Amino acid sequence: MQMMDAIVKPAAAPGLELRQVPVPVPGPGEVLIKIHKTAICGTDVHIYDWNEWSAQHVKPPMVIGHEYVGEIVEMGPGVTGLSIGQRVSGEGHITCGHCRNCHNGNIQWCKDTVSVGVDRDGAFAEYVCIPATNVIRIDPSLDEDVVAMFDAVGNATHTALMFDLVGEDVLITGAGPIGILATAICKYAGARRVIVTDLNDYRLELARKMGADAAVNTGRDDLEEAMRQKGLVEGFDVGLEMSGSGAALKQMLSVMRNGGKISLLGLGDGPISMDMNLVIGKGLTLQGIYGRKMDNWHQMSYMVQGGLDLTPAITHRFHYTEFEKGFAAMHSGKSGKVILDWTKK
Ligand SMILES: [Zn+2]
Ligand SMILES: [Zn+2]
Repeated sequence: MQMMDAIVKPAAAPGLELRQVPVPVPGPGEVLIKIHKTAICGTDVHIYDWNEWSAQHVKPPMVIGHEYVGEIVEMGPGVTGLSIGQRVSGEGHITCGHCRNCHNGNIQWCKDTVSVGVDRDGAFAEYVCIPATNVIRIDPSLDEDVVAMFDAVGNATHTALMFDLVGEDVLITGAGPIGILATAICKYAGARRVIVTDLNDYRLELARKMGADAAVNTGRDDLEEAMRQKGLVEGFDVGLEMSGSGAALKQMLSVMRNGGKISLLGLGDGPISMDMNLVIGKGLTLQGIYGRKMDNWHQMSYMVQGGLDLTPAITHRFHYTEFEKGFAAMHSGKSGKVILDWTKK
């Protein structure tokens, strides 16, 4: 049996371990991908910490990780349209293919999703095995560090492009990695002003580097003053809620213009309440966002080729054997995206 290095959740407790595990063997319709680069997601940090959500979903021992880029090295029987050596990433949600949403093109709402790196072995390893239908071909011209985080960029793309942005004023609550990626996407897609709020000055600085017109620490500074300075008259046209904070959502509802549209991506620790009278009175549209649409993979490749610069979102790079340093950076609150390199032993 061939063995490989992998970052494993060894037991139902905090922490991760670098271990030797068997290289997966691709079955019918499956593809084996040699990993080049991976990115650490907030979900991986939750699994590291072993919070309530991970205790319910993850069954150790298991290889974690779902943001990656690599190349196809082996194909199981029946795989067509792909080739050995091809640069690829992969959609992390493996969907049933038969439910109503799978059939109408909204695979992100499949009722029987299995997640790579959560429900089955993931990509923080020298190799990952996924169904060929989840493989995303990646143009060799794209920077691998950027493609490594495309899973998260896909969440940001899905959230940001849910509503028209041309000439619109956008409020993004939450300057975590997805919030700052969405900042750059909104500017690229034609928003007039993008204002980002958070309570963390390091992250707000990253939001500025990603093109935010203003980045407001709402623990200290007045959002409405920033709106006046940027020439907003009736409030925000579009809101992207990325924080999962009830206080942030409350503030967002108060500064939307009548008829404004809100995409909700941030998950809270528990139920969040809101003023329905405000939603109704202002005629707001609220859209929940989960995962990404398959088309988002094409959109983000093309946006990057068209000049969208996502590199300022990457703040740390480590060899995979130094994964503890990567998770420490994520825990510190002073990081954007953290990339792990798997190209050398
Ligand atoms: Zn992710
Ligand atoms: Zn389905």
